[in-house]
Amino acid sequence: MLQAVRAIASQLGIAPGRCRLCLQHQAATSLGLCAGCAQTLAPRPGGYCSRCGELFEREDDPPRLCGTCRLQPPPFSGVFLYAAYEGALQEAIIQYKYHGRHAVERVLQGLLLQAYAGGCARTTQAAASATLPGHDCVVPLPLHPARLRERGFNQSLELARPLAAMHRLPLLAQGLARSRRTAPQAGFSRAERRENVRDAFVAPRPALLAGRRVLLVDDVMTTGATAGAAALACLQAGAVRVDCCVLARA
Ligand SMILES: [Zn+2]
Ligand SMILES: [Zn+2]
Repeated sequence: MLQAVRAIASQLGIAPGRCRLCLQHQAATSLGLCAGCAQTLAPRPGGYCSRCGELFEREDDPPRLCGTCRLQPPPFSGVFLYAAYEGALQEAIIQYKYHGRHAVERVLQGLLLQAYAGGCARTTQAAASATLPGHDCVVPLPLHPARLRERGFNQSLELARPLAAMHRLPLLAQGLARSRRTAPQAGFSRAERRENVRDAFVAPRPALLAGRRVLLVDDVMTTGATAGAAALACLQAGAVRVDCCVLARA
């Protein structure tokens, strides 16, 4: 009996004391990671556009505006991100979303908290006198109901829970809805992505967002087209500012 329980626990990646990510080594951090996995999941110190998150070549450059954002900024005002969508972080997100590895959920939730805290810290460093944006509510990017049925959970909503709780912000799971099903963005050019998600989001109850500073949460941002469409829907509902918090930027 005990053996059977252990086998199930191990399959779920919750064997006691094991690293939640590799399931091999002894967990050594508060997130339940072994030392090796914790090292490969280090946050990106900088080297990205502070507005759209586009990654620059050198990851230790301080965040600054990219060329695109100088000319044609996206509807959202800033981005909080943990790291690039590659390596152990990419693997963890894929395991979580597509293989139902829920033991990884706590790890990713922890990284999202760090992304937000780290982004706030960097903003403060960059402009000590400027006030932080501050947020009034957290809105996860919604999945289309058909995709939600396939996957069984909305990763953005699950990732956003501890972030909202920790900062005592209302988590508006219904803040945005998908107005139609969109084709997967993979394989599309930047312009095609924008077109694919145009008007794909709607705020069913604008009063929830009117006058609010919204923090949008998603797992991965690729070009920012999806986040841009979601941010636009928030602004159209009367939100005064929208920022995005994501685990990873492609
Ligand atoms: Zn590990
Ligand atoms: Zn940019």
